[in-house]
Amino acid sequence: MAPVGPVAAPPVALTIAGSDSGGGAGLQADLRTFTACGVHGCVAVTAVTVQNSVGVSGFVELPPETVAAQIEAVVTDIGAGAAKTGMLASAAIIDAIAKACDKVGIGRTAPIPFVVDPVSASMHGDPLLHESALDALRTKLFPMATLVTPNTDEVRLLVGVEVTDRASQYAAARALYELGPAWVLVKGGHLRHEPVCVDVLYDGSTFTELPAPRVDTPNTHGGGDTMASAITAALAGGASLPDAVAYGKRYVTKAVQHAYPLGAGVGPVSPFWRISPTPV
Ligand code: PLP
Repeated sequence: MAPVGPVAAPPVALTIAGSDSGGGAGLQADLRTFTACGVHGCVAVTAVTVQNSVGVSGFVELPPETVAAQIEAVVTDIGAGAAKTGMLASAAIIDAIAKACDKVGIGRTAPIPFVVDPVSASMHGDPLLHESALDALRTKLFPMATLVTPNTDEVRLLVGVEVTDRASQYAAARALYELGPAWVLVKGGHLRHEPVCVDVLYDGSTFTELPAPRVDTPNTHGGGDTMASAITAALAGGASLPDAVAYGKRYVTKAVQHAYPLGAGVGPVSPFWRISPTPV
């Protein structure tokens, strides 16, 4: 048998997120996106949801100290080129994550860039974050974030701005920037009356609009997770923040174009759109 030569490790990304038993969103979408982007994915599990294409019927949370221990175990041994958050469930978990990230060097002024996707509810409206945790998100995680990636529903919950058009999208970006992240991405995917899906990126001085054609599909489960994970994968590979966001936008547009039906409800976007099935 031919000896195997030294193999270079791929970039590493860490997701701090909840499990979706239906496999369409959450850490399952994150890990599939990392893999499809050529990145080794590590995971700190926050909660386990009971979920299918019709909705979330419940979840259990992991102890906050177990969430923190997973982050520390991964970063102190394997390391990470970038990290992201998804479903965080509670204020106690957010508090533990903020402390662990601070300790291991994850954050906007630390070596490991930090993408905070402020997941609050599923697209069916099932809560994934206790209302009492919103303040912890705003005051503990946002000031540490390299980038925050809210959709219009999350903008309303976090800063009370109703995003209906480009002007209110800009106003939302300004209000979110005041909470302390280095960059804000206000996603426009939920503005369904617009034929073009425009996300707005803001760094405190410059607004950049990222347009993509709107895809007519009912199957958009996991879209937000997939975009934040593609951005995180690009950051783990050394991309600049604006390049990583542009990559994430292109990546999620393809994923929505390849979304597929599953179950009786809402099907998932496809994070593995560029991987062809391998004949066995
Ligand atoms: N379930 C989990 C565990 C998630 O993390 C998320 C989103 O981050 C969702 C469900 C909701 O996904 P969607 O809003 O695309 O239905």
